[in-house]
Amino acid sequence: MNIKRLSFFQRIGIWRTIFEIFLVGVILFVVFHHFPRKPVVSSWYSKIVYEVPVSKKLVALTYDDGPYPVDTLKILKLLDKYHVKATFFMIGKQMEENPEVVKMVLDGGHVIGNHTYTHPAKLETYPTAQIVGEIDRCEQVIEKMTGKRAQLFRPPLGLVNSQIASVAKDEGYHTILWTVCGDHHDAPTPQLMAKRVFKVIRPGGIILIHDGRYPDRWKDVIATDIIVKTLLKQGYHFVTVPQLLEQESKWPSRHTHSLL
Ligand SMILES: [Zn+2]
Repeated sequence: MNIKRLSFFQRIGIWRTIFEIFLVGVILFVVFHHFPRKPVVSSWYSKIVYEVPVSKKLVALTYDDGPYPVDTLKILKLLDKYHVKATFFMIGKQMEENPEVVKMVLDGGHVIGNHTYTHPAKLETYPTAQIVGEIDRCEQVIEKMTGKRAQLFRPPLGLVNSQIASVAKDEGYHTILWTVCGDHHDAPTPQLMAKRVFKVIRPGGIILIHDGRYPDRWKDVIATDIIVKTLLKQGYHFVTVPQLLEQESKWPSRHTHSLL
């Protein structure tokens, strides 16, 4: 289009249109950058706890997939040495096979959470009735052995969808994942496991390592020693997950983070 051939009024109209488009752009920029927006999260996703923001240097140490006779006992001994309480997410079937280990965990003042009865690798593909069955069967074992209901649930492998989250919520559990997991293919030694944790951990964080499911968790045992010793030196206090959740009333927003 040759602007020179346009009449004066047509030229005014073009510049006005350009100005209006510019004005709309400025308004959109101001709206999107200067007004606070709520994060878009689905209601079930926001119910999952990865960490609890707190002002004090508190962290929760959690163990999955036990109890197992050898490594769980070694871990208990270490926790006792440092006067640290932890949270154990146990597999119901393992509990039935190792009742004396369950008793020692309880006697040590640690907390037990529900980690399903058989630890299915793909719980998220199960129909709701089977998800309920896995959680309830584990809960029956927990109640029988501890005399009370578990408050906490952790899905196997941390895989959670809306169905699993809804079932857990309806049954009165807090669904607990983690801020950082020490076990990872890029951390083949206890030292590197601990390093993974130190890189990410901060007040209110939840640390995951394991005391079972594979026959030998010696790396997790040594990593426990390094992690606890080092974080205590840095001024951290170890609390159980329910103790960490108690801080939520003071700091009501739960934060979500990628699983590292
Ligand atoms: Zn597990």
